[in-house]
Amino acid sequence: AGQGIPQNTPMLVAVRARPLSRDEAERGEFGIVRVLESRVVVVLDPQDYDRNLQPNRSKEKKYAFDYVFDEDASQAEIFSGTTRGLINGVLVGFNASVFAYGATGAGKTYTMLGALDSPGVMVLTLNDLYRRMRSDPQYADSDFKVRLSYLEIYNEVIKDLLNPTDSSIGLPLNEDPVRGMVVAGITEYDATSASEILQLLHHGNMARAQEPTAANRTSSRSHAILQVSVERSERTAHVVGQVTCGKLSLIDLAGSERASKTENTGLRLKEGANINRSLLALGNCINALADGRSHVPYRDSKMTRLLKDSLGGNCRTVMIANISPASTQFEETLNSLKYANRAK
Ligand code: ADP
Ligand code: MG
Repeated sequence: AGQGIPQNTPMLVAVRARPLSRDEAERGEFGIVRVLESRVVVVLDPQDYDRNLQPNRSKEKKYAFDYVFDEDASQAEIFSGTTRGLINGVLVGFNASVFAYGATGAGKTYTMLGALDSPGVMVLTLNDLYRRMRSDPQYADSDFKVRLSYLEIYNEVIKDLLNPTDSSIGLPLNEDPVRGMVVAGITEYDATSASEILQLLHHGNMARAQEPTAANRTSSRSHAILQVSVERSERTAHVVGQVTCGKLSLIDLAGSERASKTENTGLRLKEGANINRSLLALGNCINALADGRSHVPYRDSKMTRLLKDSLGGNCRTVMIANISPASTQFEETLNSLKYANRAK
């Protein structure tokens, strides 16, 4: 599964269901998600199971996507099915973005960053990118310059995850005529080995805002964004300075659960409102693009402003909706599937 999915549409929407964890099973939770033919996800309200856990199939809800990955899908399959198809475009000057969406605990960080022994999309993408630059005959006459930055948006403030400071003002966002949207003063790193990148990202991830909330004590309240800019010049070109500039943004979104569910006040509630605001803004932009509307409301949040040059136009977008199979997560799973369904 997960091989050679043709990607000639600007928007690809995939769903990944993680396995039920041992803790969940021990608490008596059960799986309410099925995947059919790698294309359809089926969910059933836990109340529609009888006491022997037999499902009432007539009440099942079904959603179709470009691709649905079940709990057995490997990190490599996710990468192949979603992001690998974007890399060549980036090397020749197109922008693209990949989002992991979903409630806290649904598997976004596992999908994007991965664990140390099972690297996710971010690391697999960079490996593949560097491998192609080095050894793809197509690029034998190309010189590349790669810049990596890793940032988070927390309460509409941009923070550098490769050089974290306590500043509450955050880094400003500028529009550059050549490079598009750039974060002023952000660390730009030219990493060349996979293990270096892995360390860098894990280190950066530890600097992410992690605050206790009622919904999940280690919930991530911020959006983490890895941006990879690739400048290519032709060594043999007669025209000096002929350069293409592509940018890939890989985004581990904040948890999509509603502010009300975290049962908090004050700062937490403001966070919830901001998280919803940027996720809502993202949804509105994606829907506007999916519907072919001419006005796309990029200005409505910091994240959509940052990604203005990477959403729509010639850019390709991949949405990976992560879902938990657990019976207690039915509402969140349904909400995530609806959000992803609207992006198609
Ligand atoms: P999120 O970032 O959406 O809050 P995480 O990625 O942290 O969720 O995942 C929650 C837990 O589930 C973690 O312990 C993670 O290792 C585990 N997990 C998530 N997806 C998978 C998967 N596909 N296979 C195995 N474990 C997973
Ligand atoms: Mg996470």
